[in-house]
Amino acid sequence: SGGADFIVVANRLPVDLERLPDGTERWKHSPGGLVSALAPFLQRNSGAWVGWPGVPDVEADKFSDDGISLHPVRLSAEEVRDYYEGFSNGTLWPLYHDVVATPVFDRAWWDSYVKVNRRFADETAKIAADGATVWVQDYQLQLVPSMLREQRPDLRIGFFLHIPFPPTELFMQLPWRAEIIRGLLGADLVGFHRPGGAQNYLWLARRLIGLEPSRGAVGVRTRPGVVQVGDRSVRVGAFPISIDASGLDATARSREVIQRARQIRADLGNPRKIILGVDRLDYTKGIDVRLYALQELLAEGRIDPSEVVMVQLATPSRERVEHYQRMRGEIEQVVSRINGEFARVGHPVVHYLHQSIDRKELAAFFSAADVMLVTPVRDGMNLVCKEYVACRHDLGGALVLSEFAGAASELTSAFLVNPHDLDGVKNAMESALELDPAEGRRRMRALRRQVLTHDVDRWARSFLDALQPTPEQII
Ligand code: UDP
Repeated sequence: SGGADFIVVANRLPVDLERLPDGTERWKHSPGGLVSALAPFLQRNSGAWVGWPGVPDVEADKFSDDGISLHPVRLSAEEVRDYYEGFSNGTLWPLYHDVVATPVFDRAWWDSYVKVNRRFADETAKIAADGATVWVQDYQLQLVPSMLREQRPDLRIGFFLHIPFPPTELFMQLPWRAEIIRGLLGADLVGFHRPGGAQNYLWLARRLIGLEPSRGAVGVRTRPGVVQVGDRSVRVGAFPISIDASGLDATARSREVIQRARQIRADLGNPRKIILGVDRLDYTKGIDVRLYALQELLAEGRIDPSEVVMVQLATPSRERVEHYQRMRGEIEQVVSRINGEFARVGHPVVHYLHQSIDRKELAAFFSAADVMLVTPVRDGMNLVCKEYVACRHDLGGALVLSEFAGAASELTSAFLVNPHDLDGVKNAMESALELDPAEGRRRMRALRRQVLTHDVDRWARSFLDALQPTPEQII
């Protein structure tokens, strides 16, 4: 049929439709690790990408971009509210992040999730060549693998979850738990960041589906790393994602970024130490934790506000979801309380930007920061900490990292902290600020060895290799 041989299916297209105030529209690239990692595979294999263009009610035909065929999926304003803001970000996001916020279980949201997943599956089924490889991404599309397999058993289907997969007892709260587990079983390979997520999934498949071969449904059996569904094997495994480490390393070495880092330092008043936080403004990121820690260290005289400044870059995110609005208010209140108490005119202690920052500018901030604070209460991987490491070719800087970020199992030479233990966070911040330079270089060298050898290309290749049929399956 001349369809696509390799298809990425994701909630978002790698381009956004921008609606300008004068009513005109234009496509804008949304750069990201996933696009750059997958672009070579897509370009080599007459590839296609199925996804939503980021604004409601866009009626757009497929178009080609850099040798990749883009297929926009239309979502109505109601579907954006129910499928995306509702079920994806009001139910699954908090549930999968250890119920840091209380998930809402709303049946209308679920109905919309089913309907939209079916639309993604239908579009993919329509454009896939015979025997094509399809890679479905993330928590918004967990029903797509099964919906796709029903129509197109010839396809090779992979699924990767970019956020944590929760402990089984939390997942069991979900009224539609069996549907989600079954949705994923349509894939040939289900990937998670960490082995624990894979184990939880295997347990749930056995528990929720294994025991019900009644009513003509197919029961499953599991063995380590595999769910057996009738005569089909579904492999389950861990594939920790990463970044374009060498690309970022090169960016950070450029004269432009080096100069910009110096300028940032000067703009901040050449303080003895710069502390940095970079996050989407999300309640999982523990931005409040590090602000409270800073506030107490200042109050106890363990940090001198004339020597240390903190920069918190917070990208606007999900601004229509109520929990995010509330959290933004709380964080901005702590920032102004700290400045109210400890700043002098012309010398704030915390510089807070609620803005989106581009890659080069971020690299300059990473290069300028003496201490990087990454303190999520739960994070699937966290790429920011890896990006910080990739930028520190000078072996300078120190990383304070939450144990509850997926990256913690790789970045063991960081100052690892439990974000619920405020004293522990304060002690780690103090140690990082006072770090002996030789010890700092030793730690950074170890961190860089890990990040530079485990980049996002390696991640994509290892997933796609594992997705290929094993010799026994070919026979
Ligand atoms: N990022 C960015 N501009 C910003 C803040 C963050 O481009 O102002 C990027 C950052 O470099 C990283 C990504 O957004 O690549 C965030 O990924 P991460 O896994 O750390 O967190 P997520 O936002 O996906 O939960």
